[in-house]
Amino acid sequence: EKIFSGFSKTRDNLAVIDELLLYWNLADTDKVLDELEEALLVSDFGPRITIKIVESLREDILAGKLKSGIEIKDALKKSVLDLLTNKGNKTELQLGYRKPAVVMIVGVNGGGKTTSLGKLAYRLKNEGAKILMAAGDTFRAAASDQLEIWAERTGCEIVVAEGEKAKASSVLSQAVKRGKEQGFDIVLCDTSGRLHTNYSLMEELIACLHHEILLVLDGTTGLNMLPQAREFNEVVGITGLILTKLDGSARGGCVVSVVDELGIPVKFVGVGEGVEDLQPFDAEAFVNAIFS
Ligand code: GDP
Repeated sequence: EKIFSGFSKTRDNLAVIDELLLYWNLADTDKVLDELEEALLVSDFGPRITIKIVESLREDILAGKLKSGIEIKDALKKSVLDLLTNKGNKTELQLGYRKPAVVMIVGVNGGGKTTSLGKLAYRLKNEGAKILMAAGDTFRAAASDQLEIWAERTGCEIVVAEGEKAKASSVLSQAVKRGKEQGFDIVLCDTSGRLHTNYSLMEELIACLHHEILLVLDGTTGLNMLPQAREFNEVVGITGLILTKLDGSARGGCVVSVVDELGIPVKFVGVGEGVEDLQPFDAEAFVNAIFS
């Protein structure tokens, strides 16, 4: 699976602990845990989660529950997996049964919104869904041109704004209308990168029927994505996350921070710029990829 190579830089960061664990003995505990702490921080797990993980390992080692490097590594993997899964959030898209389902893609410009929409369209189409794209970023002409390229690339149809002053909400309602008439399963709607700071635009769009609002976050920004995610969530109410550019990032630990802090599930991860480079998020595969 591509996702395994996707996290190679984060894996390299974390690999420093492997050798230490290989030769671990009780007397080394402090040194090993210090190194582990450093490696987790460098990978953007964030201080709170890092301390939680390291201190619980220390407790279990001192209590004699973990007796070898392998047991420590397994406990480490398990605690990260627990952090990712214990919120009980569904990582599959929740689309209901009304057709067309509406999925809005939001996020700041440059994070990978349009690319993710295109890759998501490709994936859902391959699963058998009839997809209609809606070019809801009516502020930038280039955004709609870019989405049209993705529509062509994936063989999907698209609704674009008519006229210069078209509103995003009218593009979306037009797409939903056409979706109903022509039997589309899902409308994927692009939005302006200014959505979270433009309340009237936001209200207008949120008032439209929708099933999922997916926030696209740039994985290379690591922990810096947290304030941005909080802001979007307060304003629009996010139902899921797409973390992009994790192929090149050494900061994969931010996935854990973001899930833990916001309690919003990561639904997909972007691991490249091609049509196939969007993977459903699988917590276990993720943990295996970063601590291989
Ligand atoms: P938008 O402004 O949020 O719509 O962002 P774009 O979709 O235009 O993406 C910005 C840049 O990031 C483009 O050059 C994309 O090719 C690139 N990009 C998006 N997702 C990924 C990803 O998962 N991996 C990599 N390496 N690049 C990505």
